[in-house]
Amino acid sequence: MIRLYNTKTRGKVDFETRERGKVGMYVCGPTVYNYIHIGNARTFISFDVIRRYLMWRGFDVTFVQNVTDVDDKIIGKANEEGRSAAEVAAEYTEAFIEDMHAAGVLDPDIRPKATEEIPSMIELIQELVDGGHAYEVDGDVYFSVRSFPAYGELSGRNIDEMECGHRELRADGKGIEDRKRDPLDFALWKAAKPGEPAWDSPWGQGRPGWHIECSAMSRKYLGLPFDIHGGGGDLVFPHHENERAQSEAACGCTFANYWMHGGMLQINSEKMSKSLGNFKLLRDVLKTTDAAVLRFLMLQTHYRSPLDFSEDRLAEAGAALGRIKNAVKNLDWLLENAQDIPSPLDLRAFMERTRAAKMAFILAMDDDFNTCKALGEVFDFIADVNAQTAGKTLSLADVPPVREARDLVVDLLGVLGVDVVADDAAAEGEGEAYPPEVVALAAEVAGYDGACASEAVDALLAARTEARAAKDWARADAVRDGLTGLGFVIEDTPQGARVSYEG
Ligand code: AMP
Ligand code: ZN
Repeated sequence: MIRLYNTKTRGKVDFETRERGKVGMYVCGPTVYNYIHIGNARTFISFDVIRRYLMWRGFDVTFVQNVTDVDDKIIGKANEEGRSAAEVAAEYTEAFIEDMHAAGVLDPDIRPKATEEIPSMIELIQELVDGGHAYEVDGDVYFSVRSFPAYGELSGRNIDEMECGHRELRADGKGIEDRKRDPLDFALWKAAKPGEPAWDSPWGQGRPGWHIECSAMSRKYLGLPFDIHGGGGDLVFPHHENERAQSEAACGCTFANYWMHGGMLQINSEKMSKSLGNFKLLRDVLKTTDAAVLRFLMLQTHYRSPLDFSEDRLAEAGAALGRIKNAVKNLDWLLENAQDIPSPLDLRAFMERTRAAKMAFILAMDDDFNTCKALGEVFDFIADVNAQTAGKTLSLADVPPVREARDLVVDLLGVLGVDVVADDAAAEGEGEAYPPEVVALAAEVAGYDGACASEAVDALLAARTEARAAKDWARADAVRDGLTGLGFVIEDTPQGARVSYEG
């Protein structure tokens, strides 16, 4: 049974889906006026992991994520740059999708854009007006917060102690605060200002407020109540409080059964944000860092906890991921070199350990998606497998259970969105994993005349084997010292020399 932390009830609860075996999940998407930073990416990666895990546990997940492509910030940027809001939004929507692909985040099943969903927002606003939960003032429509007694419940705030919305001046010089019946009320529809994108509505030309889009889209694509509503913790108030109020006031039913919120990515203990200027763009980080390493760093912290980002932690994550990749490579090598000999392993215990590792991973992830603990279980498993197999030659009988153990490591990392095998194959294929100096070394001591680093390593190993066979110890040592000097580790085994690059 999966248990998850529900923001609304402030505790872990059993996860029971609305429909057996199916999950409807909505995660608020970006406002597209800039490239996303790694803080935004953390939230999207966290929910990607949650979604992948639910799928792996057999749920049929429908994942909806909106794109906010009309908003004050987009209009502001368009005005600054002398182009249309639609152009700005189109550019950054495309960039967002590219960034998500680069980060290995699965596409949502449905990615509605606010500007394409105006009719369903108008319909919802009309229902709220008709039900006495919203009112119009000069072409604006406001939600009447006090008409929804449960307001504040999601974020745990007392309605009478809440701060009022910030004072905003309209083009006509009238403060929005003066137009609202209550300072807590928020805009569902904003009357058009000159030069801004606008749509026809029963209240005249205008555009939707931010909160209403998620209410309209989630209802349209998932139906109410749906299972999981997610986003970063900074969205709980006011965005999600408002979404819930509008949706539940309109339908008289529950909006989302479970509310999940991710912790903030921080730099020097401060939230990464565009406004603080302490951000790193995802696309910049991915220029020098493998997406799997960035994801691995994120997985090492529970999704609800704050995550302090630093280059050191990124390097540590790279090293930790490297250990898993090496372990898989070692197992592959042992499997390829199995011999027709008696088994050196306690096979029954070995298989039992593999089963236990899978169970431990599931238990950790079932407990509110504890990726940090789940990774710890994978590391413990790898350590035990290494201890069992180190320095041994496998027998043919060992191949199926050892392959099962190796495949389990690959699968479990895959569930978290980290592909340990494909990444490696790509790196090896291009010889990227090896330093380019190895080509010169191979030319000098092995007569190699190509330009491929991995071929150069093969040539060096062949030259060393030849030299040893000819008892030309000086040459054999020269190859060995050359490789070691470049950061390679050579291990002699009964099946021949194997080399790994540790840098
Ligand atoms: P925005 O475009 O600002 O609405 O943000 C898009 C998503 O990124 C939302 O789910 C935010 O909660 C999330 N987010 C923004 N800043 C951070 C941060 N520093 N750490 C984690 N998530 C963040
Ligand atoms: Zn939303």
